[in-house]
Amino acid sequence: MQATQLSQFISTAAFAADKHKDQRRKNASSTPYINHPLGVADILSQTGHDDLPTLQAALLHDTLEDTDTTLAELEITFGSQVAHIVAECSDNKTQSKQVRKQIQIDKARTVSIKAKQVKLADKLYNLRDLQTNSPPDWDIRRIKEYFIWAGKVTRQIEDASPAITELLAQVYAGTFEKD
Ligand code: NDP
Ligand code: ZN
Repeated sequence: MQATQLSQFISTAAFAADKHKDQRRKNASSTPYINHPLGVADILSQTGHDDLPTLQAALLHDTLEDTDTTLAELEITFGSQVAHIVAECSDNKTQSKQVRKQIQIDKARTVSIKAKQVKLADKLYNLRDLQTNSPPDWDIRRIKEYFIWAGKVTRQIEDASPAITELLAQVYAGTFEKD
């Protein structure tokens, strides 16, 4: 990565950290929210998806959905390519959760390859967290339901990253070891 690109990457991480500054993940240790986008970017980087727009989109992938960030703000600050990938990774929060979950399954194939890669890394991060550090108020049934739903999404897009798909297969293989 060139110096300018590194500088852009750090600025993007700082932007995401600021946007998520008051949020925590749902896991047992209530991890700072920014650990998640950073972890998603790390998965992508470790699996060879290390171009700057993909890594920036990974850092920003929950800002539209979970903070006051707007698409216009992302376009102005990071350009249309990064903003578009983030939009492709975002649910429409005006719809019910049930509808949003079905749309993720139905529309997964229609997004760009970079968005598919971010989605695969996002699901991998969440599934690993559910296996090792699950939310205290989630019973095993709810965790299993999340795995089943995530599998329906990731199966549609596995061609976008054989490397992440292999890591997902390892996680799915250990899914029910708590039984
Ligand atoms: P939620 O949508 O409430 O939570 C999952 C989302 O929360 C993830 O996609 C992730 O999104 C975010 N998240 C934050 N912290 C974590 C973490 N530590 N680990 C994983 N994800 C995290 O869950 P669901 O509604 O999908 O529940 C799972 C299943 O259980 C569903 O099939 C549902 O039908 C069922 N169920 C749901 C109940 C409910 O009240 N919703 C009650 C009982 C069962 P991101 O990465 O984008 O931040
Ligand atoms: Zn996420």
